[in-house]
Amino acid sequence: MTLTSKAAVVTGSTSGIGLAIARAFAKEGANVVLNGLGDEVEIEKTRAGIESEFGVKAVYSPANMLKSDEIEEMVRLGERTFGSVDILVNNAGIQFVSPIEDFPVEKWDQIIAINLTSAFHAIRAAVPGMKARGWGRIINTASAHSLVASPFKSAYVAAKHGIAGLTKTVALEVATHGITVNCISPGYVWTPLVERQIPDTMKARNMTKEQVINDVLLEAQPTKQFVTVDQVAGLAVFLCSDAASQMSGANLSMDGGWTAK
Ligand code: NAD
Repeated sequence: MTLTSKAAVVTGSTSGIGLAIARAFAKEGANVVLNGLGDEVEIEKTRAGIESEFGVKAVYSPANMLKSDEIEEMVRLGERTFGSVDILVNNAGIQFVSPIEDFPVEKWDQIIAINLTSAFHAIRAAVPGMKARGWGRIINTASAHSLVASPFKSAYVAAKHGIAGLTKTVALEVATHGITVNCISPGYVWTPLVERQIPDTMKARNMTKEQVINDVLLEAQPTKQFVTVDQVAGLAVFLCSDAASQMSGANLSMDGGWTAK
């Protein structure tokens, strides 16, 4: 186990990629702060399940990624409970698909706040503790859309390009403190986020569900396969290892070859 005695905060870990990352960290011995929206009973089942399956401690922060004070309190909860936040994964994210001229203003604001600004708030709260201990790992879940665009996803693509820039900037600022900052850029991963965008993409492109899956989603990926949440989690664990201690400021693609095109 590589992460024994470490504590990790993973935002958006009640579902999808974030949950897989939190479970992978716990499997490596880390205590975890879970975060995200969802049904209270389900979340408690997930939290207790991680504790019993992996023999670590897990706590839940209900912080809403739209609220800077709640984001700061999430980091403090980790520090109070475990004595430190050594690993921070900024992963919470939402998607909305619409032509630019119809793009709802409140959706734009929400996507920029949740997918980009929340990472700024969590990083600024966690960095002082990491600096004091001389060790830290910050991982941002970006996207292939941090490198290339797709039509009808203006807010998401803007936020993900932003998170790639934030990653590089903070990596430079903390480079001499034993803290690395990287982002992972998955292609399409089969999670509720992808499933939920299918109806709007059908509308925006006038396609059937099968056409959206094969001609839009998998069309982007030369391997013609979805990335799995466990593959993304495996890369996150690697980024926390000693082998990755000289990797910083990187934008790591895991997209079946999408952005090689
Ligand atoms: P998901 O919908 O399964 O999970 C999103 C998580 O974010 C959930 O836990 C949800 O509760 C949480 N969340 C949403 N709004 C929140 C808020 N206001 N406050 C707190 N938590 C909130 O989606 P996913 O596919 O696992 O996405 C995780 C990340 O991966 C996102 O940043 C997404 O952009 C990114 N990503 C996903 C894919 C993909 O194909 N699924 C590809 C590239 C990048």
